[in-house]
Amino acid sequence: MPAQQETPTQTSNSNNLPYYDVIVIGAGIQGAGVAQAAALQGWSVLVIEQFDGPAQGTSSKSSKLIHGGLRYLETAQFSLVKECLQEKAILQKIAPKLVKPATFVIPVYKKNKRSPFWVGLGLWLYSLLGGSAPRKIASVLWKNFPHLNTQNLRAMYSYEDAQTDDAALTRAVLAAAQEDDAEILYSTEVSAINKTGEGYKVNSNRGSFTCSTVVNAAGPWVNTIAGRCTFGAPMIDVDLVQGAHIVLDTPAFEQCFYFESPDDGRAVFTLPWKGKTMVGTTETHFTGDPKTCTPTADEEAYLKRAFDFYFPALANVKILESFAGLRVLPMAEGSATKRARDTRIVFDNNVDTMKGYYAIYGGKLTGYRATAEKVVQCMAPVLGHSATLVSTKNVHLN
Ligand SMILES: Cc1cc2nc3c(=O)[nH]c(=O)nc-3n(C[C@H](O)[C@H](O)[C@H](O)COP(=O)(O)OP(=O)(O)OC[C@H]3O[C@@H](n4cnc5c(N)ncnc54)[C@H](O)[C@@H]3O)c2cc1C
Repeated sequence: MPAQQETPTQTSNSNNLPYYDVIVIGAGIQGAGVAQAAALQGWSVLVIEQFDGPAQGTSSKSSKLIHGGLRYLETAQFSLVKECLQEKAILQKIAPKLVKPATFVIPVYKKNKRSPFWVGLGLWLYSLLGGSAPRKIASVLWKNFPHLNTQNLRAMYSYEDAQTDDAALTRAVLAAAQEDDAEILYSTEVSAINKTGEGYKVNSNRGSFTCSTVVNAAGPWVNTIAGRCTFGAPMIDVDLVQGAHIVLDTPAFEQCFYFESPDDGRAVFTLPWKGKTMVGTTETHFTGDPKTCTPTADEEAYLKRAFDFYFPALANVKILESFAGLRVLPMAEGSATKRARDTRIVFDNNVDTMKGYYAIYGGKLTGYRATAEKVVQCMAPVLGHSATLVSTKNVHLN
């Protein structure tokens, strides 16, 4: 059913078009976050979304973890991990019904690329950056994981992170934005953004709107939107890297497990999801229209092989469903695993032709709130806002 939406109610500008301080393109988590942070400052906000409801792009296809990202330590992304762990703590405080603690278990086997020492070191570093204190699970307790393959198991560790329902979190953030009078238009596709003397004119299949600032929060469509800016918006070269998940017809384990794929040693995990077990994820180069992103048979087989290897007694369980989303990563040669996962905000308030245009590239679900606050800080001078900005870190989400 199409999500509830409003007809734009804002004041008109000299062309009799509706005017907003801020227009946000995209009702994924990043667009929702910016809409909430901007509306909280008292700015008038319109969110425009091409689909008939929120979070129908990447923000319902993630691994649903609110985490620092243990594996990003291997690529020395320490500031990203630290910021995400801080954000995890904030989200657990302001959205306890949506962001719940999750225990992760890492079994380390003889043939793993990462030794027990390496895993222990990573967990120790993770805790120094704000993660939970890691725990080594004594071998006498391994029998408490009845289906787990314990052949050639050398060590087991556990630590705490958090899990969410990504689409529900996005809806909650948008609801908070609406509480502060942000408006949302669904089933509305932005076709062009033109620079006007005082700001921007945004054209769509449902009419034109004007604004002082415009935020390109179109996720994997970010460069499509940049290409629709008639003022020559700068673009970052990106690769779209697909990540698939499968949901298995077996009751959820109490814990989340992190493993090395028996195929290639990549980190894969199992998570409880709606009472069942979810396995993720993959890294498959994607080209084409993001709307067509769907798991391939190879991806499903890769994830199922990993599950069967570590839970051989459950190898007969069926795949109930699968889904895939697109990571927006800086273009580079080689493995996607090694690429930076931080968010980049493309803007330049000093260049007249793009003053007030902000494009969000990449990033994590976990860091959406921090990103939104950075975007709003960049916008404030353009909107002539000199008062101290109000933070979303104390606004509860339901
Ligand atoms: C496989 C995978 C697993 C992940 N796991 C995690 C995780 O566990 N934890 C974590 O923190 N992060 C994770 N991430 C990252 C996280 O999911 C993304 O950073 C986040 O969801 C991106 O949100 P977004 O709002 O930028 O994009 P999207 O959710 O894709 O939103 C963009 C929106 O823009 C709209 N749009 C596009 N073009 C137009 C147009 N012309 N007109 C109007 N609207 C338009 C789209 O319809 C879409 O709704 C994962 C990502 C992937 C791909």
